[in-house]
Amino acid sequence: MNFVTHLECANCGKRYEANLVHNLCTACQRPLWVKYDLEALKTKFPKKALLGRPSTMWRYLEMLPIQDPDKIVSLTETTTPILQTKRLAASFGLDNLFVKDESRLPTGSFKSRGMTMAISKANEFGIKKVAVPTAGNAGGAMAAYAARAGMEAYVFMPEDTPAINKKECYLAGAKTFLVNGLITDCGRIVGEGKQIKNWFDVSTLKEPYRIEGKKTMGLELAEQFDWELPDVILYPTGGGTGLIGMWKAFAELEAMGWLKTSKKPKMISCQSEGCAPISTAFEKGERFAPKFENASTIASGIRVPAAVGDFMILDAVRQSGGVALATPEADIPKWMQLAASMEGIALCPETAVCLGALEVLLKRGTIKNTDRILIFNTGASQKYPEAVNEQLSRIDIKKPIDWAQI
Ligand SMILES: *Cc1c(COP(=O)(O)O)cnc(C)c1O
Repeated sequence: MNFVTHLECANCGKRYEANLVHNLCTACQRPLWVKYDLEALKTKFPKKALLGRPSTMWRYLEMLPIQDPDKIVSLTETTTPILQTKRLAASFGLDNLFVKDESRLPTGSFKSRGMTMAISKANEFGIKKVAVPTAGNAGGAMAAYAARAGMEAYVFMPEDTPAINKKECYLAGAKTFLVNGLITDCGRIVGEGKQIKNWFDVSTLKEPYRIEGKKTMGLELAEQFDWELPDVILYPTGGGTGLIGMWKAFAELEAMGWLKTSKKPKMISCQSEGCAPISTAFEKGERFAPKFENASTIASGIRVPAAVGDFMILDAVRQSGGVALATPEADIPKWMQLAASMEGIALCPETAVCLGALEVLLKRGTIKNTDRILIFNTGASQKYPEAVNEQLSRIDIKKPIDWAQI
């Protein structure tokens, strides 16, 4: 029993029955939204139901698409902390700069939120074989949850994906393939293999439930901010599920009467200049983003040259009064070091671009110094040893120590 009424194409509005397996809209090849009976939720799921529930994303079960809770495949997706920064905030001249630290989640990134949901739904449907194209962390997360569920997993990733992502997929027993192309090429392979290998395609937004898992970021932060949303959210954007999911969460919470005010955050979609399809489309005033040619960034999670949910990201950003923008690729290590050295918060390279965006938007006046600003640290910095080239001094134990050098 759940409150899902049906699924619905985000583009043409075509309706689909909830309890069947779906990928994209069969009419227009665009993503599907999961729709809920929000009126029923409003009366049957009061806020006080949350009291005493465990601090995991499953505390919002009624707002999630699970039909059979016994089929949930979980590694305990814990509520992630929101860290207030002092020194980092001051360095930008800000009063309130918060970091929601998603690096604490299973497999070290927020991809676990989406994958626990997708694999749980696949488990409900009796699916035994799953495949995914990945820029890195989605593959690692899917491999882990598929292992947990006893499913066969196939992962296709660009050959230059960070080493840790390759290893985590390999260790979790996924059949892992390195592709001499980008995630879009991997996506084509997964699509082509569907008929031949009979696997279920878990690609970002081609599978309707990952977004419902990512939606819990919005539910969770709303509760953590005591149902008064922050003024600005900065989000490193690849496929965009997290940004779209949060925007959906806010709309659902509002319809249920859970939010104290109707004021929503400005949603800021942040990219690197090395791969900036969404910010390019935003600046041109377009709703669909053409493929970004020669995409290249060390922030592998946002190396997504073409996103199927482009229009959903751009709609959410525009509705929120936010912007999409790209910042210099070369600045990524600098921002990672700033956050770590000022706060001890290890930012992933994807999130580093949010600090670049923050600097620009403060100068432009889009963000005010008094705003309550939330940045998503979407993954663990420790998964990216390739992103920083540190120069460390050496000590030769065969020689006397040169204390002047220390
Ligand atoms: C996938 C990923 C992103 C981008 O997330 P989307 O919701 O697909 O835009 C950002 N950061 C990290 C660490 C990721 O793994």
